Amino acid sequence: MQKPQESSSQNGEHFSYSSIHVDGPYIAMTFDDGPHATLTPRLLDILKERHIKVTFFVLGQLVKEHPEIVQRAVAEGHEIGNHSWDHKALNKLGPDGLQHELTDTSAVIKEATGKPVTLMRPPYGATNPRLSRAIEKDFGMKVILWSVDPLDWKDPGPKVVESRILSGSKESGGAKPGAIILSHDIHKGTVEAMPSTLDALLAKGYKFVTVSELLAMESKMPVQSSATPAAPTSH
Ligand SMILES: [Zn+2]
Repeated sequence: MQKPQESSSQNGEHFSYSSIHVDGPYIAMTFDDGPHATLTPRLLDILKERHIKVTFFVLGQLVKEHPEIVQRAVAEGHEIGNHSWDHKALNKLGPDGLQHELTDTSAVIKEATGKPVTLMRPPYGATNPRLSRAIEKDFGMKVILWSVDPLDWKDPGPKVVESRILSGSKESGGAKPGAIILSHDIHKGTVEAMPSTLDALLAKGYKFVTVSELLAMESKMPVQSSATPAAPTSH
């Protein structure tokens, strides 16, 4: 998965979000491609122990198999977003395909959780301003990409996943305020990496919020330069 384009905007209007300009040490962890029958509940236990809220971008076909897992996630304060029905690249689909991938997935999530779905992450980050705008205007979901990608789907091992989230890699920077961090709760190594990764982020002073909470914090202050507010322990 390549690094997605930066948050696209036109005339000040956002079409997608890779990170959010915020005033405090807030970050959003996101987990894609689930729910997984055993790994997602294990991750939920890890999150619960630490009182950490995250966002899951789920596949409709898997929610249909395991509605009880997304139900539990919502009951424990997490947010659920749409990640398509069966992981199709949306930019390759016609109107009917797009309608199925987006509408049927949101419907099955709403059926399981009772909550409307307001966020969408396109598989592979495959979108463009026109598609992102359609997802927002026609389907009522904001398009969420990411700023930190540990490439955990390649199964590099828990230690590598952790160091890429904390410090970055060649392909992507590490956690910083306003970051949206990508991971996948269908890989054992990713879930195994989480206890020490989350503890290290907590020790650095980061506060975990859902993507919707992070969006709501977006600072209206004009961005002065490319400088990002320093992470709590970066000095
Ligand atoms: Zn995915």
